[in-house]
Amino acid sequence: MFQLTVWSLPPLITAIVAVAAYRRSKVRAYVPGGHALRFLFAALIFWIMAQLLGTLVVKPNAKLLVEQLSLVGITLVPVAWFMFALTYSQRVLKMSRRLMNCACLLPFITVCLAFTNGSHGLIWETWTMIEYKGYIGLVTTHGPWFFLNAVYSYGLMLVATAILTFTLSQSEQHYQTVLAALFAPLLGIMVNLFYLSPLNPLPWFDFTTVGTLVGILLLDLGILRKGLLSRTPVLRERVVEYLTDPVLVISDSGNILDANQSAMHAWGKAQDHILQTNIQQLIDTLPMSRLRGNHGHTEVTISGQAYEVATTSLDTTNPKSDIALVFRNVTARLQAERELRAVKDELERMAHTDPLTNMFNRRFFMQRLNEEFERVRRHGNAVSVLIFDLDHFKQVNDTYGHAVGDAVLTAVAQVVNEVKRVTDVACRLGGEEFAMLLPETSKAGAIKLAQRLRAGIEAFPYQQHCGHPLTATASIGVATVTHGNAAPDTILKVADRALYRAKNSGRNMVCVDNDLD
Ligand code: GH3
Ligand code: MG
Ligand code: MG
Repeated sequence: MFQLTVWSLPPLITAIVAVAAYRRSKVRAYVPGGHALRFLFAALIFWIMAQLLGTLVVKPNAKLLVEQLSLVGITLVPVAWFMFALTYSQRVLKMSRRLMNCACLLPFITVCLAFTNGSHGLIWETWTMIEYKGYIGLVTTHGPWFFLNAVYSYGLMLVATAILTFTLSQSEQHYQTVLAALFAPLLGIMVNLFYLSPLNPLPWFDFTTVGTLVGILLLDLGILRKGLLSRTPVLRERVVEYLTDPVLVISDSGNILDANQSAMHAWGKAQDHILQTNIQQLIDTLPMSRLRGNHGHTEVTISGQAYEVATTSLDTTNPKSDIALVFRNVTARLQAERELRAVKDELERMAHTDPLTNMFNRRFFMQRLNEEFERVRRHGNAVSVLIFDLDHFKQVNDTYGHAVGDAVLTAVAQVVNEVKRVTDVACRLGGEEFAMLLPETSKAGAIKLAQRLRAGIEAFPYQQHCGHPLTATASIGVATVTHGNAAPDTILKVADRALYRAKNSGRNMVCVDNDLD
């Protein structure tokens, strides 16, 4: 049933080497050509395994079945090589699904024909059992479709090799790399040609797998070690690994596939722990819908730090592809922005505030007065203005000094704040002269407020406030506008005139100018 001979050794050794190479080729899925390379090794291993089995079995039916299985590997290897060349050279030629389907069509027919060969003999015309020094082998003669498939496979490999060699020669590769890419597939083809030729002294033993494996290992040495597939991923891996920004790679469903050191540090978790979780468990404020597609930058908080997340699809042609997330710590930036905003707000406040009394200044008052007049023009509501000036204030300064004078001014500001409503705007126009803007206030309302203000200034306990037995009074001019025809300047002038009337009429009183009625 089985035979144990020295002829099983070559496929056994080849299989071991191929499996080891397959394991070593465990490059990241998103490295160009990475998937296809693994597929290439897998197809080759399948082929070698079938061959190994072929050297072990003795029954004709078993030998034939193994031959049929081998053909699956034989047809897949050129396709895999083609895929590798194309995906690796993605900048030169982008692999489309349709192209891959076309490339697989003929191998698929070949495999179907192999398994139905008994009824047509298109793949194998004859098969004869032979015995060679105790080894029972199978010698086949090949049918026309087998040769058609062989020509197709060679063609596919040659096209792929041309593309790969061109790509490598375009990039900054060492010439050895280009040579390796060129000769790797040729080696397999040459051994296969020799096996199929009448010169082959051992027609029952196919060395093609050995030749192909040596070719791929050559490629492995030439490209994968020296070239992009090894250097770039290693460099990339290092860059990603040691990047101070946390990086995660997640699947379409949000499962975390990879995490760099900074990510582990940011979440304070070991890699194993992070890799077993879903992104939602790490950041519950980050729904998958925000990560798919381009939603710009998203901000999240991790361990009290603010991060901006940039998402990148690892395969733009596949909507369900893995996604790389790069987290940039923006805590310091946000803090700086907050401080800047505070400084800006403070500057703005200072620009329209009188430093002594903390009341608004003339600039802000004029701005608000203009706005209020716009409103009056549109809606016709009344607006009133008070202008008041402290009486004989020079005497206060002369008697008690400038500092006491200042204290009186702050006391007046205090009175103003007590009598004014929230919507009223009070300002220090300059010196000991003040103004109040009273939106939606009639003349009667304005006079009432002016009277309260006048009484408040007079009654203020200055002695408690500045330590001197002084009194202070103010003269107040009132003006009111009830239509949109007056200009802001006019109401000020009118109120000013009323103020001077108050001054001339004995001070400490409220006067109204009726010119605007
Ligand atoms: P009147 O009743 O006619 O208004 O007399 P008055 O003395 O108040 O008027 P005048 O314009 O002659 O004097 C205003 C004084 O106000 C002059 C100045 O000493 C004082 N003054 C102006 N600004 C300030 C200030 O910021 N601080 C202090 N302490 N005094 C000021
Ligand atoms: Mg005065
Ligand atoms: Mg004055």
